[in-house]
Amino acid sequence: MSTSKKYCNSLTSYSRLTSRVVMVGNIGIGGNNPIRIQSMTTTDTMDTKATVEQAIRMIDAGCEIIRITAPSKKEAENLANIKAALRAKGYNTPLVADIHFTPNAAEIAATIVEKVRINPGNYADKKKFEGLEYTDASYAAELNRIKERLIPLITICKKHGTAMRIGTNHGSLSDRIMSRYGDSAIGMVESALEFLRICREQNYHEIVLSMKSSNTQVVVQAYRLLVNKMQEERMGYPLHLGVTEAGEAEDGRIKSAVGIGTLLEDGLGDTIRVSLTEEPEFEIPVAQELVKRYDDRIGHDVIETIPENLLTPFEYNKRKSTEIKNIGGKNVPIVMANFCLKEKITPASFFALGYQYSVPLDKWNITDTACDYVFVGDKIVDFKTPGTLNIIYNHKTWIKHKEKGFPFLDVKTYLSGAEISDKLNILYVTLPDLSQELITKLKTDSTAVLMIDTYNNHGMAEQRKLFIELINNKCKTPIIIGRAYDNLSETQLQLKAATDMGALLIDGLGDGIFIAAENCGSDKSVNDTAFGILQASRTRISKTEYISCPSCGRTLFDLQKTTAKIRAVTSHLKGLKIGIMGCIVNGPGEMADADYGYVGTGTGKITLYKEKNVVQRNIPESEAVESLIDLIKEHGDWIEPKIKGFPFFG
Ligand code: SF4
Repeated sequence: MSTSKKYCNSLTSYSRLTSRVVMVGNIGIGGNNPIRIQSMTTTDTMDTKATVEQAIRMIDAGCEIIRITAPSKKEAENLANIKAALRAKGYNTPLVADIHFTPNAAEIAATIVEKVRINPGNYADKKKFEGLEYTDASYAAELNRIKERLIPLITICKKHGTAMRIGTNHGSLSDRIMSRYGDSAIGMVESALEFLRICREQNYHEIVLSMKSSNTQVVVQAYRLLVNKMQEERMGYPLHLGVTEAGEAEDGRIKSAVGIGTLLEDGLGDTIRVSLTEEPEFEIPVAQELVKRYDDRIGHDVIETIPENLLTPFEYNKRKSTEIKNIGGKNVPIVMANFCLKEKITPASFFALGYQYSVPLDKWNITDTACDYVFVGDKIVDFKTPGTLNIIYNHKTWIKHKEKGFPFLDVKTYLSGAEISDKLNILYVTLPDLSQELITKLKTDSTAVLMIDTYNNHGMAEQRKLFIELINNKCKTPIIIGRAYDNLSETQLQLKAATDMGALLIDGLGDGIFIAAENCGSDKSVNDTAFGILQASRTRISKTEYISCPSCGRTLFDLQKTTAKIRAVTSHLKGLKIGIMGCIVNGPGEMADADYGYVGTGTGKITLYKEKNVVQRNIPESEAVESLIDLIKEHGDWIEPKIKGFPFFG
C-alpha cells in the first residue's frame, strides 16, 4: 500500500495495528491487550443508586469500562459517591467521565475517575452554527485560548494518573474547524489533532482517540485518515471505535457492525462501544460478538498481496461497472435472495421477500424492501411472479426452462462455451478462479455478472482483493457480493453479514448482495438484513433513517418509547433522516445531517429542528409528535401511509 493511502498493516493479511498501551485504572487499552468492551450509563448521574445498579448490570454483562455523563460540577463531584459504592460492592471496573462544554467538571472528574472523555468540538467552544471567517491570526488565537483551557486538565490528569479520550464527533465540530475544513473526515481528524498536539507538548500521552459519526462512511474514512496522519507523525495512540446514534433493534446492530466491523476487519480498534437506543447492558453482547470474530483470524489462508491499491480509503467512490439489466452502472445495489434450499416455493413464499399478492386484483404489491432477484437452484417456479422479480436457475435447469429466468453457472461451464443467456448470466467466482482467460472473456461480455464467494477466514479481504484485481485489469463486470452463513441467530447473522458486506460497500465495491443463510432465522429477517446493510452503508436507501441517541444522564424524555412512537408514524417516509435526541446540549450537534430533529430541551419540553435550524422551541412533549408531522408536511416531505385497501392472502 502506498504510504499516502496507508491506514492498516495490510489489506490482505489480518493483524491488529499496534498502538501504545494506555492504562485506564487496572485495564490496559492498546498494545497486545484484547479489544476492550465499554459502554455508558443512561441514568441521572445524581441518582447514585440507579447509576450504580445500572453499572453493575453492565459489568455483569461483560462491560470492561463504564462511562458516566458529568454535565456540570455537581455530577462530576457525585462520581466519587458512585465510585465508592461500586468499590464497596467489589467492582473495580474503571470509570470514565463524559464531558461536553464544561472544563470545570472535567477538572473535578479527573481527580476522581480513571479517565475523562472530552469533545474537542465543544470543550472550550460554544457552537454557534455561524459561518465565521477565521484569519490565520484569529485561528491561532483560538488555539491559544484552547491551550489555556486544556493545560489545567492535562496537569490534573498527569498528577492523578488519569487517562483522557479526545473524542471527536462529526456533528459537533467547532466553528473554527468547520470554517477551515468543513464538515469532513479531515476536519474531524484535525479537530482531535489540535488537542493531541497540546497534550504532546505537555508530555502527556495517556490518550485514546475516537472519530464518531452516525454516518458509517464518515466513521470509516475519519478513523482511517486519523491512523494515516498519526503514522506520518510517528504516533500510535489507541483507537476507541463507535458509530453514534446508531438507533435501535436490528437497524442499530447492522449500522454498528458496518461502521465498527469494517475497521476491525483491517485490524483497527483497541476498544469499542456499540451505541444503541436500548438499555446499555444490551450493547455488551453485540460488542462481544463483533470482537470475537478476530480471536482466530490470525493464520487465515494466505491472500496474495495487492501490488497496487486503486481504492480511495478516505473518500467514497463507487467502482465503475457496466450496466447489465438493472445491475451495475448507476443502479443501486440489488438484493438477491436465496430460495434454493426451500422445499416448495409458492406465491406466499415471496411475502417474506417484500412482495404481497392481492387475490381480487390479481396484482403483486411491491414494498420498499422487495428483493430484485431470487436464486431457486433447480426448483421450478410455475406460477406468475412479480414483474420486478427475476428468477435465477442453476444452468442445467435453465437450459430446459430458458423462458423462466436466467442462468447461474460456474467458471468451468462459462469458459467451456456452453449455451448462455443473451441478456444475463450470473457467474459464481472465488478469488482462485480469477484467471487471465476469465478476465479477458469478461471484458468483452455484456451479459456476465459475477457472484463472488469466499472460503477464507479473512473473507472480506479476499473478496476485496478480487475487486482490486478486476479494477487493476480494467474489467468492469458488475459484482454481487455473496456470503454463506449457517446456524446463526438472527442477530449473529446481522452482525456478521453487515461486517463482511458493509466493509466492501463502504469502499464503493459491490453492485448487489446475496446472503445464503441456512438456519439463521426467517426468510423475512434475512431479506431485511440485506436491505438493512445497504441502508447502513448508505448505498441504497429503502426506509426512513432514525438517528437516535443512546440516552444518558442528560436525557429529558423516554428515548425508547419516543423513538418507537415516532417510528410508528414516520417509518413509511423513505429516505428521510429523523434525529431523536435526548438533550439540547449535544443533541443538535450529534444528529449531524438529519433532515428533521426532535430534541429534549427541558422536562416535558421538546424543540423541533429543520436540519440545523430551530423551528419550534419548547413545545409540550404531548404535542410534539403531531407537530413533527406538521413540520414534515409543511416542507413537502410527507406522504400519506398506504392503507391496505384490499385483502392480501397469507
Ligand atoms: S444527545 Fe443523548 S446521549 Fe448525547 S448527551 Fe444528550 S441525552 Fe446524552
